[in-house]
Amino acid sequence: MNFIDTSRQVTVLGGGIVGVSCSLALQSKGWRVTMVDRLDPGQETSAGNAGVLSRSSLLPFNRPGLGMALPSMLLKSSPGFRLRASALDNWPWMLKFLWHARRSTFDQTTMALDALIQLSVNTHKVWMDQAQAKNLLLENGWLWLYQNPAAFEASAFVREVLQEFSVANEVLSPHGLHDLEPHVAPHFSHGLWIKDAVSVLNPQALVKIYAQQFLNAGGVIEHAEVTALSQQLTGWQWQTVQGQTQWASNVVVALGPWSGRLLAASRLPSRFNMTMGFERGYHRQFKPVEGVHLRRPIYDMAGAYVLSPMQNEGGDPVMRMTTGVELAAHDAKANWEQLEAAENAARKIFPMKETVAEADWLGSRPTLPDSRPVIGELTNCPGLWLAFGHQHIGFSTGPGTGVLLAELMSSESTSIDAQAFRPERFEST
Ligand SMILES: Cc1cc2nc3c(=O)[nH]c(=O)nc-3n(C[C@H](O)[C@H](O)[C@H](O)COP(=O)(O)OP(=O)(O)OC[C@H]3O[C@@H](n4cnc5c(N)ncnc54)[C@H](O)[C@@H]3O)c2cc1C
Repeated sequence: MNFIDTSRQVTVLGGGIVGVSCSLALQSKGWRVTMVDRLDPGQETSAGNAGVLSRSSLLPFNRPGLGMALPSMLLKSSPGFRLRASALDNWPWMLKFLWHARRSTFDQTTMALDALIQLSVNTHKVWMDQAQAKNLLLENGWLWLYQNPAAFEASAFVREVLQEFSVANEVLSPHGLHDLEPHVAPHFSHGLWIKDAVSVLNPQALVKIYAQQFLNAGGVIEHAEVTALSQQLTGWQWQTVQGQTQWASNVVVALGPWSGRLLAASRLPSRFNMTMGFERGYHRQFKPVEGVHLRRPIYDMAGAYVLSPMQNEGGDPVMRMTTGVELAAHDAKANWEQLEAAENAARKIFPMKETVAEADWLGSRPTLPDSRPVIGELTNCPGLWLAFGHQHIGFSTGPGTGVLLAELMSSESTSIDAQAFRPERFEST
């Protein structure tokens, strides 16, 4: 009789950058991994992002001073932030998010995210090397643009934090900006070149490449839409829309913005009481003008968009413009106003041709109240592991999440401190 050891058997739910990273990292530690997604890997949030992997992302959106800035952000309908009525139903998350915009959470979050970002970017580089995908990596940092000295002065707090964490950066004059990015219009008094940053030319292609590496090493990918989880004597069972019931001794929930929905639909013997916000964002892509290119992503602070040099599936260059935050219900209808405003601003500073044939895109950054993902096992639920809530920086923090989770699941000492990411912080007493 064959004995099947189920102790190192795991099903990872979700095939975005986080699920694929967890699958790869677990597989490298000898786990038998099945990855389940309703779609092919990398079709959702991990497809449409700006592709920036930067240590400067250690600063969360809810930081000291947000409460003071909020009234003017709302009244002026800032291009980087729009609040839609449907978001108000999620008021418990909003209140908690604002409550965490205080120094003590900020200090803990910045410290934790910095460690996770550094682990992730190093892991990305190793995995890209192994997959011979380094051609998708641009190692030129990214560039923040300020239209006037007052706007630059207003960034003093951010620059202090970057200094505190020794994030390599350089302040640029208009002349320095022109040398670095000669095709950007001379509308800016200051630039801040974040040197501790790289960018990815096609985020979706990279997720697919990692998924292929996982398959090549014996991993299994299944297509199914999971509706609920339930605890069994020796593991976890889940139902699918397709009417199947499946089982695994360990399950990782890495469903990005959909993770909360699955947990809410599952009967869990846990006091986990998490609220998730949906910081939605759009993208539109443009054909580049011949001979006119960016060497790195740029972030126009006033226009509140990021413009990233990317490649389409065929390897041809495209310019991808991503917007700031639209707070709305996860499933609310798209409102393209923010994208239109961003395009108007972007066209004033960088020449681009018409939009590419692919449709405009909308995705949701999944954000927990303290802006840190949950990474770890749920209390009272042995074998149920969480890996979601990566807000604006899931592409930068996916691989580190995978490494950390695999170390925790394998009962090894961890590369970085896991404490700040533990699900227990959202347990009600
Ligand atoms: C406009 C914008 C710009 C961004 N820019 C950056 C950036 O520059 N750098 C950066 O690091 N991050 C960026 N992000 C954030 C980043 O894209 C996300 O944090 C990250 O992609 C989240 O990855 P994920 O794997 O958790 O989620 P996803 O990629 O959404 O993966 C979740 C997966 O779960 C699957 N799924 C959902 N429900 C079910 C179900 N019931 N059953 C089966 N499968 C299911 C989905 O099909 C999907 O494949 C940006 C986000 C946006 C919106």
